[in-house]
Amino acid sequence: MRMHPSPRIPAAIALATLLSSSLSVLHAGVGYTDTPMQPNGKWHVHDSNRPMAPVVTPAETFSQGTPAPSDAVVLFDGKDLSKWSGNKGPATWKIENGYMEAVKGAGDIRTKDEFGDCQLHIEFATPPMPDKHSQDRANSGVFLMGRYEIQVLDCYQNETYADGQTGAIYSQSPPLANACKKPGEWQSYDIIWEAPRWDADGKLTKPAYATVILNGVVLHNHKELTGNTPHREVGKYRPHPPTGPISLQDHNNPMRFRNIWVRPLGEYDKP
Ligand code: MG
Repeated sequence: MRMHPSPRIPAAIALATLLSSSLSVLHAGVGYTDTPMQPNGKWHVHDSNRPMAPVVTPAETFSQGTPAPSDAVVLFDGKDLSKWSGNKGPATWKIENGYMEAVKGAGDIRTKDEFGDCQLHIEFATPPMPDKHSQDRANSGVFLMGRYEIQVLDCYQNETYADGQTGAIYSQSPPLANACKKPGEWQSYDIIWEAPRWDADGKLTKPAYATVILNGVVLHNHKELTGNTPHREVGKYRPHPPTGPISLQDHNNPMRFRNIWVRPLGEYDKP
């Protein structure tokens, strides 16, 4: 039997076109193209058109709940914030059930101790915020040396600009994968950090490098940083001391963190 062309087909095509154009508008809405170019010359900072990392479903657990090795500095064992301070005094985040939770307006918190090259273990859970999108959905961050942000965000089925998604070296490098778990589930970061170095004249002799594993999935493999990690700007290196605090961002979301420990890294052949 001969099929007659359906008058609905052009309407379906029109609908599909409308949907795809609205999706691209949506994507454009979560980033920027009026920002400066990255040093790589390919993408703007927070570029709307930069692709998000492919989704990888992580294994159920990886390093969650892992006890600290013998030489680690335990920064948070679920009981108190004695190793932390706030912007203007004591850290005032809430503690309950073995985790700390960011309190809206309480500000960032930072470790009293300072670290250079290190191995950091930290676990986090994002609050369910289905009515929020992009960078407004469970935003926080782990700052190495108080300056260099590894992004914390709920990127489970949440579109945002690539260099701001979970595990991004913020404003510089999207992660290799989107290995986010659902809101409310515990997730683990294992971060290996190499601090930048300068000579006596303030000339950069070695950039910073980050290796980041989220839930057992490598997000960055010894990735070079091109500077600090500001919003809507190209990061720059400015000389700073060889150690700095680890800080956690209060972005007005009730983020939870637990089981935080760090191992300062020594040098080869220097027992
Ligand atoms: Mg952040």
